[in-house]
Amino acid sequence: MTPMLQQYFSMKEENPGCILFFRCGDFFETYGEDAETAARELDIVLTSKDAGEGQKVAMAGVPHFTVDTYVYNLVEKGYKVALADQMEDPKAAKGLVKREVVRILTAGTITEPKVLDSGKNNYLGVVCRHGDVYSAAFCDILTGEFSVVETGADGLEDETEKWSPSEMLLDPDLRDDPGFIKYLEASEIQHSFLEGTPDPEECESTITGYYGAGSISEMEIAGREACLKSCAVMLKYLLETQKGTVATLKRPSLGAGGEFASIDSVTKRNLELLETMAGRERRGTLLWVMDGACTPMGKRLVRNWIVRPLTKRSAIEDRLDAVGELIGSYALRERLAEILKRIQDMERLVSKAVMGSATPRDILALGNSLAAAPELSEALKGAKSGLLARSADFSDLSPLGKRIVSSIIENPPLSTREGEIFRDGVSAELDEIRNIRRKGKGVILSIEERERERTGIKTLKIKYNQIFGYFIEVSKSLSKSVPGDYVRKQTLVNCERYINQELKEYESKVLGAEERIKSLEYELFSSLRGEVAEKAAEIQAMASKIAVLDALRGFAELSSERGYSRPEITNSQTLDIRNGRHPVVELIASGFVSNDLFLDSRKRLSIITGPNMSGKSTYLRQAALIAIMAQTGCYVPADKAVVGIADKFFTRVGATDDLHLGQSTFMVEMLETANILKNATSKSIVILDEIGRGTSTYDGMSIAYAVCEKLYSSIRARTLFATHFHELTSLADAFPGIVNRRVAVKEINGEVIFLHRILEGASDKSYGIYVASIAGFPEDVLEKARKILAELEKEKDRISGDLSTCVKDGQRRQDKPMKKYQLTFFDDSSDRIREEIRAINLGELAPIEALNKIYKWQSELKGK
Ligand code: ADP
Ligand code: MG
Repeated sequence: MTPMLQQYFSMKEENPGCILFFRCGDFFETYGEDAETAARELDIVLTSKDAGEGQKVAMAGVPHFTVDTYVYNLVEKGYKVALADQMEDPKAAKGLVKREVVRILTAGTITEPKVLDSGKNNYLGVVCRHGDVYSAAFCDILTGEFSVVETGADGLEDETEKWSPSEMLLDPDLRDDPGFIKYLEASEIQHSFLEGTPDPEECESTITGYYGAGSISEMEIAGREACLKSCAVMLKYLLETQKGTVATLKRPSLGAGGEFASIDSVTKRNLELLETMAGRERRGTLLWVMDGACTPMGKRLVRNWIVRPLTKRSAIEDRLDAVGELIGSYALRERLAEILKRIQDMERLVSKAVMGSATPRDILALGNSLAAAPELSEALKGAKSGLLARSADFSDLSPLGKRIVSSIIENPPLSTREGEIFRDGVSAELDEIRNIRRKGKGVILSIEERERERTGIKTLKIKYNQIFGYFIEVSKSLSKSVPGDYVRKQTLVNCERYINQELKEYESKVLGAEERIKSLEYELFSSLRGEVAEKAAEIQAMASKIAVLDALRGFAELSSERGYSRPEITNSQTLDIRNGRHPVVELIASGFVSNDLFLDSRKRLSIITGPNMSGKSTYLRQAALIAIMAQTGCYVPADKAVVGIADKFFTRVGATDDLHLGQSTFMVEMLETANILKNATSKSIVILDEIGRGTSTYDGMSIAYAVCEKLYSSIRARTLFATHFHELTSLADAFPGIVNRRVAVKEINGEVIFLHRILEGASDKSYGIYVASIAGFPEDVLEKARKILAELEKEKDRISGDLSTCVKDGQRRQDKPMKKYQLTFFDDSSDRIREEIRAINLGELAPIEALNKIYKWQSELKGK
């Protein structure tokens, strides 16, 4: 191979898994397999190059000035890209040009804000294992947020769902966990396995090294092996991809397990928290309603809050107190909004300053923000809410901000090397050189006047271009009158161009000054940017606090505008909503009908029946959304709401169409439901919308029946179950805590009017045939359908009768052994059994499981 190709392929070996772009003159080239990939993915021309000894190698390249576009395109498609630049001037190089990988680009480590959505964080995730303990770390390199949590293997999905990282690095041990990998694939999260994990000493030195900590014991994660691993891997990877210049990451904060309620990905989608199901749009989502933030930091925070509802009562109350106080003062809200609108994306701008990529425009934006920020503290001086007071308490960097604003011009350029950044008066030296330039320019203008007089050529002009610098232009017809000291430089169709000694002298003064100005402005700018970078940690801290203020202000604005009320937060299992509304539908549909809802530890399962399009799904979702809003600390769309804090939210919607291509829709529905049955607890809120639909009626009904019973009797989760299986309403006869609800419908002269009002009791009709008639079914078909239905209804009555006897039988059977057992138990003296029974809190145990245990003990006792 030629030496250059050897250089390419050895670099490629040092950067495994990356597509290597290699600077060659004005191009970035790829060779071999990479060239084939790049050509295919980027639709660029694939050629070949001589590899020496008559061999050829594939080659594809892109111009150096557009390389970013191509590279980000590849990253978006899931590739990692390494960029190798020339480290010396190829003209000056002896032999092979020195090249180095200057950056590695991956989905989770992109630092160019332009290619990122400013409304959401871009997290990189790392999972490492130590024994049975797993640790998941998440970091946003641009905002410095860094969080880590310990969990078991089965908690990884939940944790990941809270952060939605764009890329994950995994402990090689996770190869044995196909479930998690499948989840990552389904969620389109790019992931790769680490070759190994660092040993404890290396972990400690990486972490203390980055943070300049004297000892690892200063860190919150000290002593937690799995966390140390994941944080060290995170830092190593970031340092490697950024080649050393990593913006200021905060110290990793150790998340308390269970600090946030979990909302799995299916639920997020079903509830349309961040994206609509149909169009993946923002309009029509809960985020769309709740995001009233003015700054990008605030917007990102609202998004994060929605998918991480709080579970600690005091933390929720803190936010509610703050929102309440802001609701109370319109003037304060307006004042805050006015200030916040002047604050830019400080979090990302300061990172750019640290990485040295901030432009004059960026620094000015940051300066304006720093100058405005203390006005927030001022406005919130008398705040009663602890959270408001804490969030308005940050260091005053307005002197730096004001200095930036007064030194940089109003509309600075994007470039740092072209001058025109600073105002006059910032640097005496700069002013002096600018003066020289100005004077030179003035002299040149006066030369023009003088030469016109001297030569008598009225149309003589002095012009400037990049090639010749300043020159004198005279039209061809008058070129005869040109004096002898003019030197001709160029002949055009209509004119001649000349220079002379005097002009060149001034030119060198002006241009020399120009160059000096550019380099001096660059120096001044770099030092200003450096000053900002030095304050990075303080600015980051301030930015996080401003984000909180911004998010809370938005909540207050929304709550006040929409007439929301403050939810009462409890640690009970109550979900008591009076006149609740769906936060999104009430904005979109006119004449929204509000509804009540009541669930608690006793009446914990409600079956909702009603015709199609009557409002069942809306009612179900509104319950979950109100609870989620309450747990993010926002007021809720209801006259009154008591929300017992939920630990997990689940929603499943019966498969009706082929949204999930590839897998049988019914299979998907069953997998999702199985997941609920495995993970829900008595603190969870579960919403089941027409599950059991994708199979035969009896099948579906039986499954729905069994699922309800499990959720009610053993899991004891608060559950809302919408169904078109009217037979299920008989469950209410068998279990005291299962309640039927129906959607009211009015029939007038064969016309059906949906009232969207939820009432007690079961509905007795499904109105499917009515819907068919609206849809324009021919009358004879409708007639036939009605006849068949009438026949089937007879059958249906029999079935629901059977079902409820079946359940009641079960209950009766369960009652008897319970009594018998109590006798045998007290008669028996077996210590082991006494111990076992004491170990179980019977009151807490689900009846069926308790019974099974008891059956088992009984037979054991009988054996004795
Ligand atoms: P179902 O699940 O019973 O088929 P949906 O909940 O999907 O019905 O509601 C159908 C439509 O009815 C919704 O798109 C909405 O426009 C309207 N709707 C639902 N609930 C209400 C309500 N409470 N007030 C006003 N309109 C409603
Ligand atoms: Mg529905």
